[in-house]
Amino acid sequence: MEYNWGIKDLKEAKEKLKIILKKEKNKNTKNYIKSLIKRLNDYIAEEELSLHPSQEKISVPEEVAYDQTLANIEYDLSSCHEYYSLVSFFAHTTDAMQDKIEEIESILSQRLTPDDGYSKITGATITNEKALSLTSQFYNGFSPELSLVFQNAFAQRNSSIRFVDNVEEDCVANSTYIDIVKRYFISITKTDDLSKLYTFIHEYGHVISYILNPKSMYFSSEFAFDEVASLFPELVAQYENIGNYDKAQVAFESYVTFILYRNKAINLDAHRYFIKLWNDNNRNTDDTYMEKIKELEFDEETFTDAIETVIDDEGTYIISYMVALELLHIYKQDKQRALEIFERFLKTPYTESLRAYLESEFTIGSHLQEETEYLIDNFKKELKKSGEFHV
Ligand SMILES: [Zn+2]
Repeated sequence: MEYNWGIKDLKEAKEKLKIILKKEKNKNTKNYIKSLIKRLNDYIAEEELSLHPSQEKISVPEEVAYDQTLANIEYDLSSCHEYYSLVSFFAHTTDAMQDKIEEIESILSQRLTPDDGYSKITGATITNEKALSLTSQFYNGFSPELSLVFQNAFAQRNSSIRFVDNVEEDCVANSTYIDIVKRYFISITKTDDLSKLYTFIHEYGHVISYILNPKSMYFSSEFAFDEVASLFPELVAQYENIGNYDKAQVAFESYVTFILYRNKAINLDAHRYFIKLWNDNNRNTDDTYMEKIKELEFDEETFTDAIETVIDDEGTYIISYMVALELLHIYKQDKQRALEIFERFLKTPYTESLRAYLESEFTIGSHLQEETEYLIDNFKKELKKSGEFHV
């Protein structure tokens, strides 16, 4: 089957919206359609830019860039302080697992470089068709209500999915949805690694939530929960081992997701120390400042990496992951209950607080230690059983 979409599809959706806009009388609906057109225009502009990338890059002197970035972080620390505390909670709770993590890393380093997938050991590959059919199998068994939404979206997959060489830096896939004309667009990086299956389940989680609740996608101010819709199905798919893959390989996929978020959480948690030192140093990132940063055990490269980690991007994944782990914890005991909470979450109007709803059901982070410890112990157990490593 052929999969593709491009600028032509975006323009086609835009033309349809313009026709609907002309006929529309209601002022609010008109404004809503205009915001959709604006969104499409942004995508079209991005697409044009990627087709004709400009050669010139503006370079900013590094120290000026550091000061500007730190000023942004200082602002974020106060405007998103609740999100920062959840992320710090994540970093500190998982610190307890550091010894076990180091043990696993030293085992993995016998056979894998940090960029390798576990397929290097098992040799497992997955075709696009297989990944899509397992995604379909997963959603059809996941929840009857969500399965109907999924099936409608899945039927349009040829003109809604495209495989690209590289989506963006540090990003294997993305998706969006244009309400009213009911079009969604997924871009996914070409790979034959098993991770593609979870990426599809992840992106279709977004698509389902957009279809069920498009206004929440456009207007919700609670960005920290944007990834729950995708991460919870992804975690369930790994827990249920959809497709019956090698258990060590599936445990590896869960493990790398956790490690990715743990590293980002450590970066975000360091922000308040960076800002304190910066203010103590007259808001100047000179050599004295960089010396102090080194004392925090950040060399220039890890410091740059840490200040480029932002709460409303990476932080979103960490907090959503914490929520998804709580849902998984409930799912393990009572599937029905977890799905009810998840479906209600997906349908929460953007005018209501998602956090308030979630916290009426559970405390975010209350099973973080238990679930991440299980994830790590389970991976170690599978590594032992696989006999591939000297554990
Ligand atoms: Zn996502």
